[in-house]
Amino acid sequence: MQSALIACPECDLLQRPTALAEHTVARCSRCFALLYQPLDDDLDRPLAFTLAACILFVISNAFPIVGLEVQGQTTSATLFGTAQALAMQNMKLLSALVFFTTILVPAVQLSAMVYLLVPLRAGRVPRRLPLAVRVLQAIRPWGMIEVFILGLLVSLVKLGAMARVVPGIGLWSFGALLFAIAAAVASFDARVIWSRYDPSLPGTDDQNRSRSSHAAAPAP
Ligand SMILES: [Zn+2]
Repeated sequence: MQSALIACPECDLLQRPTALAEHTVARCSRCFALLYQPLDDDLDRPLAFTLAACILFVISNAFPIVGLEVQGQTTSATLFGTAQALAMQNMKLLSALVFFTTILVPAVQLSAMVYLLVPLRAGRVPRRLPLAVRVLQAIRPWGMIEVFILGLLVSLVKLGAMARVVPGIGLWSFGALLFAIAAAVASFDARVIWSRYDPSLPGTDDQNRSRSSHAAAPAP
């Protein structure tokens, strides 16, 4: 019998989860907020998006994101080069932030997802699964590639008046990476991962025992 409790995301009422039938969802018995849905137990989609994001991440960092042509002289910079240049201009904090939010966090995020998804897809449970899931959830708010891209586009438009701006392969790849990471994160359901780790966790039981949309009962 399941012993874990689940807290309503809206009103914090603790409830004991029950099994869900197909096409039903569990709602809070007090405020009717959505508690959980039947699991979409498919790892192919998140894995495909994650691997695509990994390839794009490597391309984005290996090739220059932008080149500037002034009086016939061309300079170009990679993302890491940009962070380095900022550090050399005595903007160490900004440099550290750029490195952390656009290189380190996406790298850790993608590594953790590959670490979880590849063995699980092959039917094995990775040894440090709980740690990897917690790391993923903790660093998710720190990935800021989209903020970086937006800032980059604004400055490129402004620089257009002073120099000829040549978008590099890295910039296009970064644009695609944005969508690939968003799709990977959106299709990555931590509950599916936990269910492979411990099948007795909430919302992971697919035996059709209840057809009610009020599947959750208040905890005593
Ligand atoms: Zn509630």
